[in-house]
Amino acid sequence: MKSENKVVLVTGGTRGIGKAVCLKFAELGYDVVINGARSEAQGEELASKIKNMGVKAIFIKADVAVSSEAISLVEQTIEKMGAVDVLINNAGITRDNLLIRMKENEWDAVLNVNLKGTFNCMQAVSRHMLKKRQGIIINMASVVGITGNAGQANYSASKAGVIGLTKTVARELASRGIRANAVAPGFIQTEMTKKIPENLKNKIVENIPLGKLGTSRDVANLVAFLASDDAGYITGQVVNIDGGMVM
Ligand code: NAP
Repeated sequence: MKSENKVVLVTGGTRGIGKAVCLKFAELGYDVVINGARSEAQGEELASKIKNMGVKAIFIKADVAVSSEAISLVEQTIEKMGAVDVLINNAGITRDNLLIRMKENEWDAVLNVNLKGTFNCMQAVSRHMLKKRQGIIINMASVVGITGNAGQANYSASKAGVIGLTKTVARELASRGIRANAVAPGFIQTEMTKKIPENLKNKIVENIPLGKLGTSRDVANLVAFLASDDAGYITGQVVNIDGGMVM
């Protein structure tokens, strides 16, 4: 099913899961806005690649943790592409440490990007979606927002926050035709999980019923389903994509 003239805005779209989401939506015929806070060259390169797929694509540099930049990201998207039909809040970072050693700046950085960034973009886009009385929001949570994870007090708190935020927004906006859902990946092969030592990775895989790490494409396929009309009766949900780790 082609989605011509629809616009998707993907925060943190320059690599990893976000990049796979951008490519998936381009395949579906969406015009794509790729965001990142630093990786301008990667973002521009991806925009060129997507334009060659026959849809519009632009890169917009913005730090979603900064409210004014998130507002400007949404305003520029509407100015240059005409709308935001689907918002994917994917930008995320880790600053792992044990509770006892965690520094204030490690806590603040993760909460600011992962949770406040998601809030900033949803608030900015909701004004536009409310006027249109339609819109789709998908937020990237994590299974550790459900289970917790030693060494990730900041990250798991931010992702648990994203889950609560998603459910609240789903309740507030459902009557105006806007759906909001969260995706909770387990361990997906990206730059983020490259940092995990090999012996620990092997241990993690032992605890995954499907016996392997997921791919960014696996996550992109789920995000595309949640954005489709086939998911038209789904809102306020958290969908795990983790090879069966959490069940
Ligand atoms: P990644 O490869 O590290 O990519 C992160 C993306 O976020 C990059 O495009 C990065 O671009 C962008 N970003 C970071 N800070 C930003 C900011 N302040 N403003 C705008 N963009 C920002 O990460 P990933 O593994 O693909 O993860 C993507 C999402 O899935 C994250 O929310 C992550 O928490 C979640 N997740 C991942 C896994 C996994 O196993 N990989 C599991 C569960 C959940 P710049 O460098 O240019 O800022």
